[in-house]
Amino acid sequence: MVEATFVVIGGGIAGVSCAEGIAFLAPEEPVILISASPTVKKVTNVRNLTKMLSRFDVEEQPGRKVFESCPNVTVVHDTVTHLDHENNNLTLSSGAVVKYGKLCVCTGARPKLIAPDNPHVLGIRDTDSVVEFQRRLSSSRRVVVVGNGGIATELVHETSNVQIVWVIKDKHISATFVDPGAAEFFQEKLIKKKDDDDSPVVKRMKFSVDRGATSVSSGAALGPDWHANVRLSGLSTDDVTVEKCCEVSHVHEGDDEWPVYVELTNGKRVGCDLIVSATGVQPNVEPFGAAGARIADADGGLIVDWAMRTTLPNIYAAGDVCSADWQKAPHWFQMRLWTQARHMGTYAAKAMVYDNQSEPFLQDFAFELFTHVTKLFGMKVVLLGLFNGQTLNDEYEILLRMTRGQEYVKLILKNGRLQGAVLIGDTDLEEMCENLILNQLDLTPFGEDLLNPDIDIEDYFD
Ligand code: FAD
Repeated sequence: MVEATFVVIGGGIAGVSCAEGIAFLAPEEPVILISASPTVKKVTNVRNLTKMLSRFDVEEQPGRKVFESCPNVTVVHDTVTHLDHENNNLTLSSGAVVKYGKLCVCTGARPKLIAPDNPHVLGIRDTDSVVEFQRRLSSSRRVVVVGNGGIATELVHETSNVQIVWVIKDKHISATFVDPGAAEFFQEKLIKKKDDDDSPVVKRMKFSVDRGATSVSSGAALGPDWHANVRLSGLSTDDVTVEKCCEVSHVHEGDDEWPVYVELTNGKRVGCDLIVSATGVQPNVEPFGAAGARIADADGGLIVDWAMRTTLPNIYAAGDVCSADWQKAPHWFQMRLWTQARHMGTYAAKAMVYDNQSEPFLQDFAFELFTHVTKLFGMKVVLLGLFNGQTLNDEYEILLRMTRGQEYVKLILKNGRLQGAVLIGDTDLEEMCENLILNQLDLTPFGEDLLNPDIDIEDYFD
């Protein structure tokens, strides 16, 4: 049996951030990081865009390399199969037993697949699944992409030489992050790009949207980093059809023409070579749920309190596996994203070390404001606070400024105070918006001037 004061399970961003945090706060205490994956994910190149909004790269590296400057951290490549929380023991698939003083579960989540046993259905989660997607795509004529979040949006945008049928349950594309106006803005941008573009185009995409009778062709830009170095190309010509307001009701066996068919709730039947299921994730709570940790009904995550403690003694959780169950700050909510995995992992480290020393601590400032920066359709997208009016029960006003193809700025106000913002393009407004959400200044005197491009509104707040 091996033993350590602190044990962390998971080599993703949450687990690595947690182990790094413990190594920093308690360099004399032994730490074991157990990861089922041979490489672990490391956050590098952090750029702070504002006080609370940061951008960073994520690299996969061998565990030993990531922790070479932390001699108290040992990385074990194995899978945890059993938890005995009464004796503070973990059993690994190799049969080894690890005893912990305090444990943090950072086992992430896996894609929720529409037909998990069907060999033609693929979920995208890690590097291996991207490589598998690339391999299968290269011999595909038509792919059905199911889901409307960031991954589905990126796949549709980045994949070329293949017919795509994009099945979304909402009325507009990319609904996890943007409202119908912004979705329309992206289509406008695609059209404009095509019209403006007189340079040779690397990739062409044809959108034919059902119910809307819109049909455009466009050149597309590079997308987010995770597939930047992967050529995602099929066997056919580009053509994207969006099937809105519907879901996959059945997956049927193929015939001579197509290997597999999907039946949609709108009655259509679509043959294809491959189905990519990007319909959300399922937290990896086994074997901790079986050992008695409470699981959230809503999202299947391990319930954690404000200090990232699960309902079992000495066991914490962070990242995609956990479900935040505390009295949340008005402008923060959980979304399973890299930034939150990092914040939670680092903060869980603090909670574990301070609890171990019986020292009091306060919740991290990162949980005061939801922030996310990403790229959609090649454009910078910053989301702040209640960017989609979340929790406001439709009781809010919207201020909107849009310059076709360049920027889309949406501010959400309640009682004259800023609650959230969607900033697409190089708006340079993130700092101002972040401050206005945090300080809840009454903006009524500014009225619509708040977004008047001829007035430098930031002067007022300096
Ligand atoms: P994970 O990264 O899933 O790590 C879990 C770790 O636990 C793994 O090392 C796994 O091997 C290990 N593990 C699991 N079970 C066990 C066990 N029993 N024993 C031992 N080890 C175990 N977020 C963004 O913010 N921006 C993006 O652009 C973005 N793009 C994404 C694109 C894709 C394709 C995907 C799938 C996700 C994307 N996300 C994005 C979400 C983001 O990747 C996750 O929120 C984040 O990586 C979660 O980190 P984690 O450490 O909680 O979990």
